[in-house]
Amino acid sequence: MNALMPKLDLAGWDRRYAELQGRGLHEAAYGGPLRRHVDRDRDFRLEQLQFDGSAAALRLWNFLLTENERLHQARGRGEKIVGTMKDLGTVPVMAYALPGLRAFYPDGAWWTPCLMEGSDQLLQQAESLGIDASFCPVRAMLPAFQNGEHFPRPDLLICSTGAVCDDFSAIAQRLEHLGHAIFWWEMPRRRAPEPGEGACVLPGNLTAPSIQVDCVRLELERVRLALAELAGVPLDDARLADGLRAANRVRRLLASLRQAVYAAPAAPLPALEMLVAEMLAIHFCSDREETVAVLAELLAEAHSRLRRGHFVSGAQAVRVFWVNPVADLRAMNLLEDCGGRLAGADFMFSHALDLIPEDLPPLEALARTALADPMVGPATDRAARVVRECRANRAEAVVIARIPGASHCVREGEIIRQTVRQTLDLPVIELEIPPVSDAMLPALASRLQAVVETALARRSK
Ligand code: SF4
Repeated sequence: MNALMPKLDLAGWDRRYAELQGRGLHEAAYGGPLRRHVDRDRDFRLEQLQFDGSAAALRLWNFLLTENERLHQARGRGEKIVGTMKDLGTVPVMAYALPGLRAFYPDGAWWTPCLMEGSDQLLQQAESLGIDASFCPVRAMLPAFQNGEHFPRPDLLICSTGAVCDDFSAIAQRLEHLGHAIFWWEMPRRRAPEPGEGACVLPGNLTAPSIQVDCVRLELERVRLALAELAGVPLDDARLADGLRAANRVRRLLASLRQAVYAAPAAPLPALEMLVAEMLAIHFCSDREETVAVLAELLAEAHSRLRRGHFVSGAQAVRVFWVNPVADLRAMNLLEDCGGRLAGADFMFSHALDLIPEDLPPLEALARTALADPMVGPATDRAARVVRECRANRAEAVVIARIPGASHCVREGEIIRQTVRQTLDLPVIELEIPPVSDAMLPALASRLQAVVETALARRSK
């Protein structure tokens, strides 16, 4: 007999937490009630969210929301902190292959204005530092570096350049001018091999000229030396290969979780928790081993619910493929409130989900994976992958979340929209979602309802 699992608001989680504790809940060191993130860290957005009610989801949220605290603790233990910027999933694999290093993405500060509902004033402070609202919310990281109230100041700051968006390029350069030294490495813009040109197969069904892979490999060689110098031990191939295998363990778990949730006839886990779970791939939320434990518990919860017929959305919910991360986490709740569910997603880092080849020299394997980044190649490549995944998971509609100010979104969104319409004839909408979207919720809801209703009407044709 199928059952619908109710989601919990924060007050509901207060009661649920007491109940789980009464049943002998065993938590990781960063565990505790969700409420404390509001009371202590001013993460006021949690009061507006609807959460999954499982112990696995509690662990996921506590893991996410204690990242800065855990980074400060690591610094206190004498570990070295590496800030990696823009590549989303490459340099952290190398950093975590070395003892005593902890890598994180300062870019992640783009969710701080959402979580703190603007009380952090980071976006306003970014304006006073010369980066205004014509840039995407990643600009929040600039004052976060300056005021030191969020993440610790990294011992080494590494940023990819070349094929990166104008927003990030400008913000990172501004950061350097403010006195934060940056180790730059170059990422060429991926192109298709020309006839007769040497080519390499990349993860994600892509190919690139061998000369581009060589270029990335040589750049990563420089990164390897910088990381090894910081760690005080060489990052040799054996150590790096171990790091790749450990990263692949995370990627395999995520692949199983995505398959279990997105392909299921009804969703066993909510969209919001799936977004957070996918984000763990890029830098393991600053703890690779714990990421494995968090994902394994989520996967076990999903499998258990599928066996018992317990779902968070009804079988009638429209299967939506979602493109881009949302600046306001509440938008993922809204999708389900409007009768949709996730049946796939491209949160802008599909290369961090693909397995890194283990049958190649490790730096070559990492270079190929880095070059498969959807944001360094043509939008048509990204659109083709969206189409493949929509087909695989029987998506009935596509939602493209535009990121306010993001320089790539307008053109890219249109290419994805046209490709999906032409090849799959699915309804597609684009929504711009600001970091705190409360004032726009009615408009966002009516647009989501419209696409859900269009998809439902097509079922009866
Ligand atoms: S514009 Fe897009 S790719 Fe660039 S930093 Fe912002 S969200 Fe990331």
